[in-house]
Amino acid sequence: MKKLVYGISILLFLSACNQKQTPKNIHIRNTMATVFVQQAPEYKALATQAYALARMVLDNQLKTATKPLAVVLDIDETVLDNSPYQAKQIVENFNYPTHWNEWITSENAQPIPGSLAFLQYANAKGIVIFYISNRKNKNLKATINNLQKFGYPQADSAHVLLKTTTSSKEERRQTVIDQGLEIALFIGDNLDDMSAEFEVDDYNKREEAYYANQHKFGSKYIVLPNPTYGKWAINRGFYNPKFNQDSVAKANLNTF
Ligand SMILES: [Mg+2]
Repeated sequence: MKKLVYGISILLFLSACNQKQTPKNIHIRNTMATVFVQQAPEYKALATQAYALARMVLDNQLKTATKPLAVVLDIDETVLDNSPYQAKQIVENFNYPTHWNEWITSENAQPIPGSLAFLQYANAKGIVIFYISNRKNKNLKATINNLQKFGYPQADSAHVLLKTTTSSKEERRQTVIDQGLEIALFIGDNLDDMSAEFEVDDYNKREEAYYANQHKFGSKYIVLPNPTYGKWAINRGFYNPKFNQDSVAKANLNTF
């Protein structure tokens, strides 16, 4: 009997330790990705490269445009860098959305490399710019202030379209087309920023949508790297607080 009580106590203790450890483990997984975004020149180079390509595509489209052109971009991890928020999660051990509102209202997110120069160029060429983001509409003022602080062009309530009812950006993209504009380019870190075709939760279906649209990447769709979060991670169960060795098996990694 004594042995049994002892055994149960040990188990309860281990289980309590494990629960305490779990949240931290989630964020430790994100440390390497966050270091990459904040400290690897390769990350900065990739973002700069994406916007250099965007400029070339825009120049080409301007030569043949028959309608006024628009550029549609996402904000988070496309125009503004929220890696300090990811870093705080790792260091202080908490989950999204804790402190997210506080971070947004600090209006302190820095520009993603290449984005400001590209948008200032597009603006000078007479392109209409739409920032379509799933930040909540209550954060509109803070988001506009953050963008204006760095001189992002056309960052006003007519061109910054945040989430009001639906996470799908399709309706908001349609309002751009309804204004008689042709969308020259879609720029984002999530394929859902480009087209509703990617708005599927199943991992395989999302990959199929990628293959069906492969020819548009680099000519209509420009993608920014984001290794810290995204639908790709949700689809593989990376936000599950019970992430463990079982989850590693489910991630379906390709090994030799
Ligand atoms: Mg984004």
